[in-house]
Amino acid sequence: MQNQLNFMGKGKLEWREVPLPSLPDDDAVIVRPLTVTTCDFDGLVIQGLVPIKGPKPFGHEGEGVITNVGDNVKRFKIGDRVVMPWKIACGHCTPCGRGHTAQCESVPPEDCYSWGENANIWGGFVSDGVIVPWADHMLTHMPEGADPILIAGVADNITDGWRAVGPHLKERPGGTVLVAAIAAPGSIALYAAGWAVALGAKRVVYADYDQGRLECAAQMGAEPMDLNTSSLRSLKPHLGSMKGGFDITVDGGGNPAALTELIYLTARAGVCVSTGGLMYYGNEVPFPVFDMYRKSMSFHTGWVHTQMIIDEPLALIHEGVFDPSPVTTVVVDWEDAIDPLLAPFTKVIIRRDK
Ligand SMILES: [Zn+2]
Ligand SMILES: [Zn+2]
Repeated sequence: MQNQLNFMGKGKLEWREVPLPSLPDDDAVIVRPLTVTTCDFDGLVIQGLVPIKGPKPFGHEGEGVITNVGDNVKRFKIGDRVVMPWKIACGHCTPCGRGHTAQCESVPPEDCYSWGENANIWGGFVSDGVIVPWADHMLTHMPEGADPILIAGVADNITDGWRAVGPHLKERPGGTVLVAAIAAPGSIALYAAGWAVALGAKRVVYADYDQGRLECAAQMGAEPMDLNTSSLRSLKPHLGSMKGGFDITVDGGGNPAALTELIYLTARAGVCVSTGGLMYYGNEVPFPVFDMYRKSMSFHTGWVHTQMIIDEPLALIHEGVFDPSPVTTVVVDWEDAIDPLLAPFTKVIIRRDK
């Protein structure tokens, strides 16, 4: 048996005793999670903003050590330290073959650790063992000597922040970036701002209402813009303008009007990435399609295809190009996980051993 942290309902988490998992087949491994970080989605669920019912095993970003290995697994052995992406993906269906692992067809849509339809099978990371199916495809080795506190979030939100700006800055070297974050927890938007600075954007503006997150963005080198006292609209250009704007705009979610503003504020041939599309649950967003068309801008949203892109952000953090640590609210010991998860947070890191 093992102790597993569970989401029970709005504002309620509980340790429950459940069986330790065993290998379901020869392609799987069992991982003992060692470092687990919160996803922004976790914060929404704990606050009761997403219609998910407990009990659900908690935690889907993290790293750990392999304790059991199936006979067909080639890339991993017992004792290996691995980063465990949040999404379950087989690696061999048509979407996975194209790198679109968040849309794997071998499992139900949106199947992932902790919150997915099969969470009772896969488990959650704040536990003593989770099943990793299709391990050769799912897992990534921890770089030798990497700091797990810095690396664990690459399994989801840090990589999500990277994809919002990294590939687009490569197409627009030295480009300008505007990140707008409205809703808590907000870690992905902060990572996007931090990545943009680290990857050499000419100007990075981070707009938010929350003083703590504004300070964090400033600490990472972004230009903070307090939405309590100034508006996105003041950044110009606005409706119909073909001059200026930001090459990359990032929507942290939560406010349809802000997303529309970001589209107007996107430069010619620019891109707007909504990492917070999830927070529009039930919301319709007005899209100024003609404005988008005439400036040839792109819009992108969707779950991050973590397995396809994880290597680059992982290497960049390990090499010291980007330090995600300012985003962390608190690092807590395993058994003390509940209280900081019930308090407001941007990012909680739960570690098994100091
Ligand atoms: Zn997540
Ligand atoms: Zn697949």
